[in-house]
Amino acid sequence: MRLRPDRGEVATYIPELARADRRAFGIAVIGADGQLAAAGDSETPFSVQSITKVFTLTLALGKIGDRLWKRVGREPSGNPFNSIVQLELEKGVPRNPFINAGAIAVTDAILSGHEPREALGEILRFLQFLAEDSSIAIDEAVAASEKRTGFRNVALANFMKSYGVLDNPVDYTLGVYFHHCAVAMSCRQLAMAGRYLAHSGRNPTTGLLVISPERARRINAIMLTCGHYDGSGDFAYRVGLPGKSGVGGGILAVAPGKASIAVWSPGLDAAGNSHLGRISLEMLTKRMGWSIFGE
Ligand code: GLU
Repeated sequence: MRLRPDRGEVATYIPELARADRRAFGIAVIGADGQLAAAGDSETPFSVQSITKVFTLTLALGKIGDRLWKRVGREPSGNPFNSIVQLELEKGVPRNPFINAGAIAVTDAILSGHEPREALGEILRFLQFLAEDSSIAIDEAVAASEKRTGFRNVALANFMKSYGVLDNPVDYTLGVYFHHCAVAMSCRQLAMAGRYLAHSGRNPTTGLLVISPERARRINAIMLTCGHYDGSGDFAYRVGLPGKSGVGGGILAVAPGKASIAVWSPGLDAAGNSHLGRISLEMLTKRMGWSIFGE
């Protein structure tokens, strides 16, 4: 099968993301031995958007532990990533940490006790530490663009605030949220950052424990069930790996014990997931026998 890099639509609801080249495609795979296999635009930084929600979840669990689950659930939503309907029915407690409302609640937990700038610095340093790359930075133009147009996220955050789910001023929490979504990383940097999830919480090269094996396993479980918005079931069916996508067209996928994989192609399918990213992961897992559900 040939990949045709002209499929899917680039996200336009954040105007700055509309500038992405829909013909771009990159992939990076880092195996258990630390070897990198990469192709295409694997060194081009792109807006990782919701993929940072995996890393903010990791940080928030490290900070407040299982108390986090009082403010956010762990069930797939079956709704679009920015839906407000479910949030009202469920009294301001978001379904999971990967839909926007859930990620805003997670960001709020990281922010508590800090200034927004400190919280953002903590998130950025964590990404740089995981990827072993201090050049990772926030794309300020994307952050500003989302801040200008993020009316739905403002609504979601105010709604949660009215139910007492957020502790901090809404604009502080959203400021941190918009900025961490605007981090730019390449496929290689992202695959580096995801290694601890593929290796029971450890950096496979140094052996350093980032989080406990149990926590890594649980984050992977949430990625599998909730990592692709209302396309999560289909991603599990086709690819069979825990993964998290972002509207910038990136996907981080984890083959437990085997590899950390990042793909990027900005054209999105109807659920907001990278069209070509998903197809390429499906081809890779099939070829390698990496699906967690068997060959
Ligand atoms: N920053 C984006 C938003 O809040 C993230 C969406 C995504 O990648 O799913 O709308």
